[in-house]
Amino acid sequence: MPGSLKSVPVPHYSVIIVGGGQAGLSASYYLQQEGIDHLMLEKHSLTHSWRTQRWDNFCLVTPNWQCALPGHPYEGSDPHGFMKREEIIAYLDAFIAKVKPPVREGVIVQRVTPRPQGGYAVQTSAGEYSADQVIVASGGYHTPIIPRMAERLPAHIQQLHSEQYRNAQSLPAGNVLVVGSGQSGAQIAEDLHLAGRKVYLAVGDAPRCARFHRGKDVVDWLAEMGYYDIGVDQHPLREGVRDNTNHYVTGRDGGRDIDLRKFATQGMELFGLLTGLDGSMLRFAPDLAAKLDAADAVYNRINTSIDRFIEENGIDAPPSAPYQPLWQPEAERESLDLAESGITSVIWCIGFSPDFGWLEAGVFNGRGQPLHVRGVTREPGLYFLGLPWLHTWGSGRFSGIACDAEHLVRHLARARKAA
Ligand SMILES: Cc1cc2nc3c(=O)[nH]c(=O)nc-3n(C[C@H](O)[C@H](O)[C@H](O)COP(=O)(O)OP(=O)(O)OC[C@H]3O[C@@H](n4cnc5c(N)ncnc54)[C@H](O)[C@@H]3O)c2cc1C
Repeated sequence: MPGSLKSVPVPHYSVIIVGGGQAGLSASYYLQQEGIDHLMLEKHSLTHSWRTQRWDNFCLVTPNWQCALPGHPYEGSDPHGFMKREEIIAYLDAFIAKVKPPVREGVIVQRVTPRPQGGYAVQTSAGEYSADQVIVASGGYHTPIIPRMAERLPAHIQQLHSEQYRNAQSLPAGNVLVVGSGQSGAQIAEDLHLAGRKVYLAVGDAPRCARFHRGKDVVDWLAEMGYYDIGVDQHPLREGVRDNTNHYVTGRDGGRDIDLRKFATQGMELFGLLTGLDGSMLRFAPDLAAKLDAADAVYNRINTSIDRFIEENGIDAPPSAPYQPLWQPEAERESLDLAESGITSVIWCIGFSPDFGWLEAGVFNGRGQPLHVRGVTREPGLYFLGLPWLHTWGSGRFSGIACDAEHLVRHLARARKAA
């Protein structure tokens, strides 16, 4: 009889963390310091993205010394090296063993809604929970972007997104079209090129930077110059900096530049922006020369700023010759016949769009991105952590997450005391 059914109380926590990547784990580290009970809900397994969404030859672009998770600095023998995928996973596993987060893995958070009485109702694939406060640490890379033109590619062409790429051997025999030259696209194009594959690369807007300049890693110089301490509130682009594309460069084999012009001299075929597909004809914008020049201009600008810093501070650093373009496109090529080119696979490396559709709160802008100040939203008790440029360059990386997580959890703890 319905009248005799007792309602089962919904498990309640002070804080629920959505997502078990480095951001969620860092939040748990500081919540434990504050003695605040919490539950972490992770739809796959902890640090899933590093285990499953990186290619086999993946290595960090940032030097190892920047791996500075809270209470877990890099302590290996190669601080200026670049960890490979398996080493990154080992570094994260050691962090998980230290933090021992209260986690439920394999649980998808499907809906989070503010409750009239305060706090949040959290609906999941494993039932309902509630919490006074919610930290959204579900990452910044949700839905892989694949353009609608992909639907018209011939069925025999294998298509994948950058997060699905593993190695050259797993692609069908033949040539490969890589679309996009951001950090992933440029490195995947290099990976295929080094594996002996013929690569066609549609070059996008991404800037590039040098790996080393004046005797040191550019990241080391920028750290000395204080660039990584600049918050969005002080950055010349303000919050617009969050839309910036990452610079392409690699940590592979001890670190080096990625110079697409050099690849062109070695047989890679470069095109401008991919704009469409007519039958079996791929269409490109006539902007390859401009894109290569723009990426080099950023490269030179960063180096010039380092030169200025060296000069102003009287630092004794070896000279470096300015970059000279190794190759120029003879003419802009605006089309490529898929059949004639022998392309059998296409890798989309054009990024991700955010998906916070499960979060029912009035904290988003017109593009679905959360509005916040250092992760604190205008909804009491609702926080974001781990987003690119949440506060600084390092916010969505290994270098800045500790600082952001500490700031956020201290804020959250103060809000609890004041409530
Ligand atoms: C190709 C690539 C290269 C990078 N290279 C570097 C580098 O060299 N150096 C560096 O410092 N950083 C690098 N980064 C950036 C950064 O370190 C990662 O993006 C990092 O994984 C961010 O951590 P996170 O915890 O915020 O998000 P994630 O690691 O994405 O974790 C979020 C977690 O939330 C879970 N989740 C999502 N939605 C839900 C839901 N509804 N319910 C439950 N769980 C959910 C996901 O399963 C995931 O495990 C790179 C990133 C990429 C993509």
